[in-house]
Amino acid sequence: MLTNTELAELLAQQAERETGILSPAFRRAARSAFLWPENVVDLVAQNRPLTELRGIGPFIEKQIRRWIDKPPRLSESVPAIRRDFISLAEGRQLLATKPAWSKRLRGDLQMHTRWSDGSGTIAEMADAAKERSYEYIAITDHSKGLKIAGGIDERSLKKQGAEIAKINIETSRSGGKLAVLCSIEMNLNPRGEGDMLPTSLLALDLVLGSFHSSLRTLEDQTERYLAALRNPNIQILGHPRGRIYNYRLGLKADWPRVFAEATRLNKALEIDCYPDRQDLNLVLLKIARQQETLISLGTDAHHPWQLEFIEFGLAAALQEKIPAQQIVNFMPILDLKSWVQQIQDRSARKQ
Ligand SMILES: [Zn+2]
Repeated sequence: MLTNTELAELLAQQAERETGILSPAFRRAARSAFLWPENVVDLVAQNRPLTELRGIGPFIEKQIRRWIDKPPRLSESVPAIRRDFISLAEGRQLLATKPAWSKRLRGDLQMHTRWSDGSGTIAEMADAAKERSYEYIAITDHSKGLKIAGGIDERSLKKQGAEIAKINIETSRSGGKLAVLCSIEMNLNPRGEGDMLPTSLLALDLVLGSFHSSLRTLEDQTERYLAALRNPNIQILGHPRGRIYNYRLGLKADWPRVFAEATRLNKALEIDCYPDRQDLNLVLLKIARQQETLISLGTDAHHPWQLEFIEFGLAAALQEKIPAQQIVNFMPILDLKSWVQQIQDRSARKQ
């Protein structure tokens, strides 16, 4: 019985064999496989058309049915660039075995809006979060150094804060419980330095720092990670490896050392739940558990519907048995805020 993850690999391999327009079509279908909400084999068993699924047209449907009728031998080793990704169907199956786990989730700590490269307004993201009964979300648009993603500067960040404050007032007036947190995904250079004035960051509820450059270097990047974690202005390191499914492998480091340093500083490493990223991945989550490092879950949503990506992170953390107390999104909002405060106080004492 082929799983969706195995089908994704078959599709990706087929893309490499095809030429012309079929190659990108198979490649796209491989990516889409991670988002299929149900197992393809179940659809086949129920006599449903596979074209219900994203990325599958009639031609690819035929190919998939051939594979299911006669499963090909999958080569033992999936290339590293496609390894260690969970499919939504598998993730949901795993989460269904322990419903109490997902119920602990109180919010989502990475998402983008029209202020940078997202498609939704803050209000639309907040509405999507209310539908999920979240207690909080962090709005983490890109910072000014990431021009390609429409990063915002200190002035815009302040204006955004005013918009968020208004939304929070309206929510509490109407009896809602969602708090929209002011945050940012600050671009970090390879020396771990941010691109925003520390004073403007201090006004935020939370700061993520992420690398978006020099992500293909093959040399060990441990020093880069240690520097980023020691950056006094961030509390969470976003999509740590910088990997992307079938596109970029991500960075190398002495991970036990990186996680140990995060633990010492009481900072969190993120599971970026975007299906193509899933970064931290399962292998690194094992180290996070051993090192008792805090984990933050962020969908990196660029559209309101993408808040559902949180399931990838919840499933990965559950699979690797990360203790609930290590997940910052399981904290009540006051605990979350005091965690940030503690880190800020500690950094201020050192300055
Ligand atoms: Zn990012």
